[in-house]
Amino acid sequence: MKGRGSLSRPPDGVVLDTDGVLLDSAVVHAAAWKIAFDACLDQLAPDSGTQPPFDADAEYRRFVDGRSRYDGAAAFLTARSIHLPPGDPHDAPGCGTVWGVAAHKEQAFVDLLRTKGVTAFADARPALAALRTAGVPCAAVSASRHARALIRAAGLAGLLAVIVDGEDAARLGLAGKPDPALFLRAAALLGGCPQETAVVEDALAGVEAARRGGFGLVAGVDRTPLRRTAALLREQGADLVVPDLTTLVRSVWGERP
Ligand SMILES: [Mg+2]
Repeated sequence: MKGRGSLSRPPDGVVLDTDGVLLDSAVVHAAAWKIAFDACLDQLAPDSGTQPPFDADAEYRRFVDGRSRYDGAAAFLTARSIHLPPGDPHDAPGCGTVWGVAAHKEQAFVDLLRTKGVTAFADARPALAALRTAGVPCAAVSASRHARALIRAAGLAGLLAVIVDGEDAARLGLAGKPDPALFLRAAALLGGCPQETAVVEDALAGVEAARRGGFGLVAGVDRTPLRRTAALLREQGADLVVPDLTTLVRSVWGERP
């Protein structure tokens, strides 16, 4: 059926990405990356003009959205032909190593959270509640170590059967997206198989991960005003792209949030 991937009936469970799907936090991550990357571009290109600043929209989506901090930092720096040693996870924030850049992003993110905070998208709670009423269990997945605390603070934890975040990934040694390990872990904890489970993602790396994991339905969420990422999400393998979770629940499960 069009819009239902390989499934003949609606999925039994749903694994939802957190940043940009449930929580309006992608913009905070992007702003934190900009602080960390622009500081390095300034240092490594002292004459300026040789390296344009980090594009918190296009480059955020292409290189860091959905990825772990280290992988995101490495991908962007490599794309700008900046080759730093990996360093180590205890490196102080700075521009000397990839881990140092990742640490600067983390510091900036925590600072922004303290000053601005993060909220759930308006459609997240009613969509999760409608799925709960329909007997469809939901999981939230994130590469961020902050996700569980942010989901609780946003008041969504009670509507989620499972949360898998960066803390779990580190503890269990799970690879980040585009590897499907986080999604597969969430589906297993929901008690379903990937073929009968949907993944909801806003990042290209996340859509790729869901495809690789063999999920029965891969739904892209494009919340941009002009639907700029819809075509890219489809190219990456999304079965359908929706502007919000209310539309998704109505079109796939026939529920009215
Ligand atoms: Mg996301």
